[in-house]
Amino acid sequence: MGKGVPVENMKELISLSRKYGADPDYVLAGGGNTSWKSDDLMVVKASGTELGNITEKGFVTLSMDKLKVIRNKQYPKNREERENQALEDLMNSRLSGQNGRPSVESLLHAIIPEKYIVHTHPASVNGLTCSKRGEERALELFPDKCIWIPLVDPGYVLAKKVDDELSVWTEAHDGKLPDYIFLANHGVFLWGKDSQEIEDKSDYLFSVLNKASANTGAVKFDTKESVSADFLQKIGKLAGPKGDALFTTGDEIRSVLGSREDLHNLQQSLSPDHIVYMGHTPLVYDNLTEEEILRSIEKDYGDFSRKWGKEPKSILIQGKGFISMGNGSKGAETARLLMLDAIRVIRIADSFGGPEFMSEEKVNFINTWEVEKYRAKLSDKG
Ligand SMILES: [Zn+2]
Repeated sequence: MGKGVPVENMKELISLSRKYGADPDYVLAGGGNTSWKSDDLMVVKASGTELGNITEKGFVTLSMDKLKVIRNKQYPKNREERENQALEDLMNSRLSGQNGRPSVESLLHAIIPEKYIVHTHPASVNGLTCSKRGEERALELFPDKCIWIPLVDPGYVLAKKVDDELSVWTEAHDGKLPDYIFLANHGVFLWGKDSQEIEDKSDYLFSVLNKASANTGAVKFDTKESVSADFLQKIGKLAGPKGDALFTTGDEIRSVLGSREDLHNLQQSLSPDHIVYMGHTPLVYDNLTEEEILRSIEKDYGDFSRKWGKEPKSILIQGKGFISMGNGSKGAETARLLMLDAIRVIRIADSFGGPEFMSEEKVNFINTWEVEKYRAKLSDKG
């Protein structure tokens, strides 16, 4: 709940959150987060709530003083100890009576000294942040307006990095803030004193990026290829008693899955959202008969789960289409959305020197990070 927040600010924050949260060009799978702050407190989206239909209950109020303590505290060098302690401190920064789990990106919101903050992972932006020439092009396209943050561990380390870079920037700009913070292989932060300022900044961001990229549109699908309902049902059941599997195809999808290089690209990870919701790597098969593919999937499913400690969520059939699976219909639908997003991001990244993927070490960090497991668990419900 937005404890202690003036009614009109809470209202503006909710409408701002719904506006961007309900727009698939900005936010997928309920992701992204928003906040409002005063000198004493900050209200931020709770983890596991969807931005597009958020109400006051979807927010949690934190003490700015306690968040400041986290910013300045020395945490252990050991990754696990550091993340556990930082998470505990974040939970303890909640005002009394606040039960929601604050977004893992809360500290980033607290660091930016502005009223309203919007953080999203749009495909148009990630075409830039997940590209080889991303940093160079960002600084050319938004000269003296943006900060580029290279790929670092999410959570505490990322917040600390943004804190440092932002201090350097403001010192060099008479205390003024940039307009955007781009996070490599992740997304963008923007902010304003009110929703109008946020709208102006995001309109400008998209207009510049759309001009600089060849084609930023959503991936289209058709029904020129199909698989049998029985085949999908058997695959879905591998994910559990309520398991579900969805088949998706289209001109662009078939072409991507027919190219060795594109196929190889889809086996790598673009961002934490992709890892959490569609799996860090898919199972891949030749376009054989359904029986042959099913036999292989049944074998590989167990091997994958044993190797990675979690079930696969995406299956690519070369030149034909892809299958998204989850232990419920919502999980399968989300895996599908993220695969479509990955194809779109990789296509847009071609305008910026080609896609840049996360390193194996960073992928493993997300795969084992406790907060991401929590997010993945919530997405599988229903
Ligand atoms: Zn994010």
